[in-house]
Parts: sequence; structure tokens; C-alpha cells
Amino acid sequence: MPSEENQTVLIVGAGPVGLVAANLLVDGGIPVTIVESCEDVPRDLRASTFHPPTLDMLERFGVVPSMIEQGLICPTWQFRDRTEGVVATFELARLSPDTNHPYRLQCEQWRLGELLFARLKASPLATFRLSTTATAARQTANGVELDVKSKDGGVETLTASFLVGADGIGSVVRAAVGAAFDGITIPELFLTLSTTYDFREAMPDIANISYLSDPKEWYVLIRTKRVWRALFPVDAALDDKDVTSPERAERLLQGAVPRSERYEVTHRTAYRVHERVASTYVNGRILIAGDAAHVNNPLGGMGLNGGVHDAFNLAEKLTAVIKGAPLETLERYSRQRRKIALDVVQQTTLRNRAILNTREPEARRAYYDDLRRIAGDPEKHREYVMRTSMIQSLRDSEKIA
Ligand SMILES: Cc1cc2nc3c(=O)[nH]c(=O)nc-3n(C[C@H](O)[C@H](O)[C@H](O)COP(=O)(O)OP(=O)(O)OC[C@H]3O[C@@H](n4cnc5c(N)ncnc54)[C@H](O)[C@@H]3O)c2cc1C
Repeated sequence: MPSEENQTVLIVGAGPVGLVAANLLVDGGIPVTIVESCEDVPRDLRASTFHPPTLDMLERFGVVPSMIEQGLICPTWQFRDRTEGVVATFELARLSPDTNHPYRLQCEQWRLGELLFARLKASPLATFRLSTTATAARQTANGVELDVKSKDGGVETLTASFLVGADGIGSVVRAAVGAAFDGITIPELFLTLSTTYDFREAMPDIANISYLSDPKEWYVLIRTKRVWRALFPVDAALDDKDVTSPERAERLLQGAVPRSERYEVTHRTAYRVHERVASTYVNGRILIAGDAAHVNNPLGGMGLNGGVHDAFNLAEKLTAVIKGAPLETLERYSRQRRKIALDVVQQTTLRNRAILNTREPEARRAYYDDLRRIAGDPEKHREYVMRTSMIQSLRDSEKIA
């Protein structure tokens, strides 16, 4: 067991997953040191969907009212055909008996980051090492060592009882765990465009979260409090400047909804998408969570949510171990969360992509028929929203020993 003097947990990464884990550990009386390359909480525009059980979990930090105030409550979401219109609408009110938040909340992930960062800053148990990059990690007889490099080039080795890698897709900590990161890279890039245009003008029946299927060019429309975010697949062979050029943005948006005016586009990002799950999330005293452990396509909003669920599972077990439970307790974290990443998150997001981009007319029709059947049957509808909102996977993971 770690000595009484050095119970500190090192966390690499102040993304949403690292900050959730840090808040939980501190609330359990455990000191944490958070190492983050950036000089502040990263504010780049990434995920924005929070599912019902994630909001239920975050309630304990007192941050949810502020997220709701800054975000947009979305009681339904839709699959649409790009030309035919609505295929099926799913209603989250059917989850009312199972959650305090029977809706998806659209709120940019950095807003949660800022709230969690502020909460940690108020704790005497939290230490931040910002503008500091982890370069390597290893286990020692009684703990862990982390090599870090500061912005001015200074290098040092930090020591602690445990190390949590919440350092995103390029995780240095995953290498120290010795985990493989097998899977696939999606052939197309995902281009996200934010626009002030209100798509409800052209599609009055559109839900705030809509997946538009098309054999040639599918896309996604997601409304936030301030803008609509449109996501299009684009050819990965194009150079970076071309992918995010204003001309391409205008062409894609005009192709989706033709207008006489130009679109006002306030933000453009393109990113590469992978489907990968680490071969283990734990090795002794070193753990990984969030994108460091699993990545998937964003169709269904499961990456960030799954990462937050990892952080809750991990922090509960790590707190127990630091307070005397056997070290092997941590391996159940890996078994539970890895199975969900493989069997639920990856399968659901891959199926969502197939519904959107399948070309063969018969296969498309079969997907549509299935979605309509589910939406039209009260029992199936509820089961489906239990699964896609991730409530079911959290319940199922409790059964994994
Ligand atoms: C460009 C982009 C756009 C995305 N858009 C969407 C989207 O539209 N919808 C969706 O559902 N999901 C999206 N995602 C995925 C989603 O944002 C992630 O699932 C989520 O951020 C995972 O959180 P995390 O805390 O695990 O990792 P991250 O948010 O990646 O945080 C990792 C943190 O670790 C820090 N870090 C990394 N390496 C080191 C190191 N060696 N030393 C110190 N610090 C380090 C980073 O600076 C960062 O702050 C996107 C991802 C990317 C990369």
C-alpha cells in the first residue's frame, strides 16, 4: 500500500475526464496533482452533448444548473433522410423514471471544464502544474514516477502513489501501461462548422439533434444555445487549409440547405476520427481513462460521456484502494469500462455511421424500417433510448465482476 505520507495521485490531462477524476478524488480526501500541457483549461470546440446519466453524475459537483443555463435542453433527437425528411424521432421523456435529466444537454465541453477547474482551485488538496508536459512514466516499488518538461525547458520527475492518464488520444501514460491501441481510422475527416443560420426555417420539424442520412453525403445538425453545428464527412486526402476553407464551408452548407444569402460561419474545425480501445486500462498503479483509453466516432455523442463514466468508476475504486482495499480492485475498473467501450460505444457509433452512409437502397430501407419500428413501439422505444443515452450500459457494467 502507498505510504501515509505520499497518497498523492498524479493526473495527466485537464480535459473533462481528468478534471472529473480530480474533483472526485479530492472530494474523497485524496490529494491530486494535475499536469497539463496547456497554460489554462483547453477551450477548443469539441464535444457538446451530455447524456442523462452523465448529468446525474455531475450533479454532485453543483455544476449542472450552470451547464443548463449555458446550454440547450434537447428533449428529442432524430434520424432523417436528407431528401425524404424525418425517419424516426426519439423521445427522452420516456426516461423520466430513470434519470433526473430526461434530455440531452447541448453545452460545449470546455464550459464543464471551466466549472470543474474553478471547483478544484478552491480545494487545498488540488495542485496544478500547467504548461507542463508529461514525457514518460514508470512504476516503482511503492508508487509511480512521472517525467515532465515545463514550458521553459526544465525537466523533473514527479512521484506519487498512483498515476491516472487522462491525456487524450496521444496518451503518454497509455504507453506506460503497456497497452496496445488497436482499431481502425475512419477514412474520411469530420468537418464541423458552426453557423448562425437557424435550420428550423428550412426544416420546421427538425429536432435539435438530427442525423441526416444520404448515400452520397450524410451530415449531422446539432443546435446549441448560440449556433447550429453542422458536421460533414470530407476527403482525408485534401490538405488541411482546403478542408477548412470558407469556400468549402459555404459549398457544403448551400448543398444542405440552399439559400440566396451566404452562411455566416463562426467556427470551422476538421479532425480525424478513430475507433480504438486500449487492450487494458490498468497496469498496477497506472490507469488510463477517457480518450487515452478509447476513441470512437462522434455519431451518438458517446466519447466524452463514456470518458466521464470512466472517471467516476475509476475514482470510486482508486479511493477505496488508497483507503485500504486490495490493488486488484482497480482491475475491475478495466474489465467493466473496457467491455462497455467495445460492446456498446463502438458498436452503437459504428451502426450510427452505417445508418448514415450506407449506399445500397435495400440496406438503407431496412435501417429505416427498423428505426420506424423501434420508434413506433413504446417498449422498444424506451429500450432504445435507455441504450443510446448510456443508462443501460452503466447498469449492465455493475454485473461485470
Ligand atoms: C478536434 C476534436 C474535435 C472533437 N469533436 C467532437 C464532437 O464534435 N463530438 C464528440 O462527441 N466528440 C468530439 N471529440 C471527442 C471529445 O472531445 C473527447 O472524447 C473528449 O475531449 C475526451 O476527453 P478527455 O478528457 O479524455 O481528453 P481530452 O479532452 O483530449 O483532454 C486531454 C488533455 O490532456 C492534455 N495532455 C495531452 N497530452 C499531455 C501530456 N503529455 N502532458 C500533459 N498534458 C497532456 C491535453 O492538453 C488535454 O487538455 C473531438 C475531439 C477532438 C480531438
